[in-house]
Amino acid sequence: MAELQSVESALEALLKDVKAGEVERIDCEAAAGRVLAESVTARLDVPPADNSAMDGYALRQADAGQWLPISQRIAAGHAPDSLAPGTCARIFTGGEIPPGADTVIMQERVEAQDAQAYIPGDITLGDNVRRRGRDVRADTPLLEAGTRLEAAALGHLAGQGITQVGVYRRPRVALLSTGDEIIEPGQSLAPGQIHNSNRPMLSRLLERFGAELVMRKHVADDFATTQRLLREASERADVIVTTGGVSVGEEDHVKHALESLGQLDLWQLAMRPGKPLALGRIGQARLVGLPGNPVSCFVGAWVYLRPLMGALLGCPRMAMLPRLWARAAFTTHTQARRHYMRVGLEFTVEGIVAHAFADQNSAVLSSCLEADALAVVPEHTTLNEGGRVECLWLTD
Ligand code: AMP
Ligand code: MG
Repeated sequence: MAELQSVESALEALLKDVKAGEVERIDCEAAAGRVLAESVTARLDVPPADNSAMDGYALRQADAGQWLPISQRIAAGHAPDSLAPGTCARIFTGGEIPPGADTVIMQERVEAQDAQAYIPGDITLGDNVRRRGRDVRADTPLLEAGTRLEAAALGHLAGQGITQVGVYRRPRVALLSTGDEIIEPGQSLAPGQIHNSNRPMLSRLLERFGAELVMRKHVADDFATTQRLLREASERADVIVTTGGVSVGEEDHVKHALESLGQLDLWQLAMRPGKPLALGRIGQARLVGLPGNPVSCFVGAWVYLRPLMGALLGCPRMAMLPRLWARAAFTTHTQARRHYMRVGLEFTVEGIVAHAFADQNSAVLSSCLEADALAVVPEHTTLNEGGRVECLWLTD
């Protein structure tokens, strides 16, 4: 039997020469989840002026320890007047500190009566004042290229008054499932048939990984149809993802159809689940052919498709799965193939514990339901309960 190939070598082949796509300018309103193609420099100080962190009274700290007349009222959103010496200003959270004042005291510590306020003497200069530019300074770097625009980044852009950003175009993906036995949900099963689980599962994962699905088709097990749909996919997509049909069975047509149109490498990987993997090209389109078993698809999507999407999106953080160490709550051993076990993570004060779903067979999709991570048990290893195992965290 030919020697199995390593996951690392397949990943290297997959990611070779992959570059981020074109840049497009879009409204920030529509930019959630997209990846910045350019670094953004702050143009404003945030906050734009000193303001109060509390509902209370603004004053000169040197005036504390006595009754002070309340000379103005400053609500958030209203410009203050200069603070007359020997007076204080009623101020509310977010209200701009009036010129002349240097300190805010919270209202709970102040006794107010007839337009006068008693300010205790023990207050510290600068208390409860949020300084101009404390969060962001104008002309300093705000966000780096390659940042995925999630909640805080979107808030930051808005804080700068920015309405449009340059982002990488989302990779266009065509998803083709194969197999004469596969029918869509909504149709009832005839003998020998099974519903298409891979299509919704991979659609969801690919969307999470930032892809735009431009084609989703099911392909019957015949050469001509497979060839026609692969050609169409190559004209519409940057990446073609197929499921099934890449083993060496007689009904595995993806291989032959792809060879007739472009170039193909069939990998036999030292991993479980998902030994067969097809990597190829038709014209400009890359092809990733995952095995048909839903679990192999799930694992293959995280191990291969996520790094590929990360690279196509110019997002270094997405291009690798975060790794963590956990204690195994199970015992297992491997032979020639590294095992990517589906595990739930329990975060305890003593550390992270990985719980494996009881049935790790590659046809058992239930094992992916509660999977927070893939515990990677290396080749030829015995892992005992309580032992350390490296996990790939399945997180965005
Ligand atoms: P294949 O790689 O085509 O030999 O398929 C391997 C196994 O996965 C077979 O048992 C198929 O029935 C099953 N399978 C293939 N495609 C799908 C799919 N889209 N949804 C659910 N099961 C599938
Ligand atoms: Mg098949």
